[in-house]
Amino acid sequence: MSVICLDGGDPDYFNAPLSQGLLPNIKTMLEEGYYAVANGVIPSFTNPNNVSIITGTPPSGHGISGNFFLNPETGEEVMMNEPEFLRQESILAAFSRQGAKIAIVTAKDKLLKLLSHQVKGGIKFSSERADKCTKVANGLTDCLAYVGRPLPDVYSADLSLFVLEAGIKILERERPDLMYLSLTDYIQHKYAPGSKEANDFYQALDLAFGRLTKAGAIIGITGDHGMNDKSHPDGSPKVIYLQDLLDRKIGPGKTRVILPITDPYVVHHGALGSFATLFFRNGLTATSEIIDFIKILPGVEQVMTREEAVNRYQLPGDRIGDLIVISDKGTVIGTSRASHDLSQLNGMRLRSHGGLADRKVPFILSRPLNAEYSALAGSRLLYNYDIFDFALNGVRN
Ligand code: ZN
Ligand code: ZN
Repeated sequence: MSVICLDGGDPDYFNAPLSQGLLPNIKTMLEEGYYAVANGVIPSFTNPNNVSIITGTPPSGHGISGNFFLNPETGEEVMMNEPEFLRQESILAAFSRQGAKIAIVTAKDKLLKLLSHQVKGGIKFSSERADKCTKVANGLTDCLAYVGRPLPDVYSADLSLFVLEAGIKILERERPDLMYLSLTDYIQHKYAPGSKEANDFYQALDLAFGRLTKAGAIIGITGDHGMNDKSHPDGSPKVIYLQDLLDRKIGPGKTRVILPITDPYVVHHGALGSFATLFFRNGLTATSEIIDFIKILPGVEQVMTREEAVNRYQLPGDRIGDLIVISDKGTVIGTSRASHDLSQLNGMRLRSHGGLADRKVPFILSRPLNAEYSALAGSRLLYNYDIFDFALNGVRN
């Protein structure tokens, strides 16, 4: 059984190429298997959603609330890439403990530690560092020769296609019991659904899905989050510089805006997403005046306190700030104007994610649901983190 996470895989990316007959294998899956649009978790960022998918729980269960957070114990802003932040064992680790053979391939190396934590044996590597594989650390030596492709650039569609090619080879040769393949959203950050570049990428995905099914796998496909255009009509990014606005309103040093999208790979989004968390400093607390001030900023969709966010979005209360701010479909949130380098967009429109409008993801199974799971799917909204359960227990044999 194989689960694939399409990073930034907004369901819209399927529509245009499907209607043009460009995705024959996906079309077959939709007709003969199961398809729904599901929700990802909030914030609609990569790390919280990938960890939700492999643990089967929202962030309140696994503890990963962003790519990045302010550690209240140390006062430092830290990456949440380290397994020490995980509060729940993954489905992959639990199966490996029972002796199942696991394979994990991810595009960017930053995710590998979280995805492979406590997974015994098996194969686990990233395409970003496929040239550094060792038998001891990754379960394979010389991954490049094994996959039969050169090392891809970290900013390329090839980084994802390498993951899929690796998955096909592993499935054919090693017959793992469970395989998780996690791609990158390089294409979706740059190109809109229906564009030639996006369609070309989805055609390549379609071919790979066809080969995976042919190799005998039950396939589950979902996404970590969707993707939307966050630009003004003139092409410039539509940004709320929240730290600048708050410093002007109540004085500098009173608040700290944290953007959990921040990661070492900011080239395609300039660390701008539609979700921010806000810490008050020096004894200041969230007043209704401050909340109301943020609420009416153009482009802000929701402002809520920590408690409200914990209840509404199942977030871990000790890993978020005093307030949560979510911007709308067409707007992102930044800290201060000076701290975002937008020149890296190279004049392309900003496409990003993080908010409510960016949480829609596909939920595809290569086989039809059994009666029990068909009833379950009809009774509630599905989340991306239901995919392992459905692929393992919910399809007809
Ligand atoms: Zn992502
Ligand atoms: Zn992204």
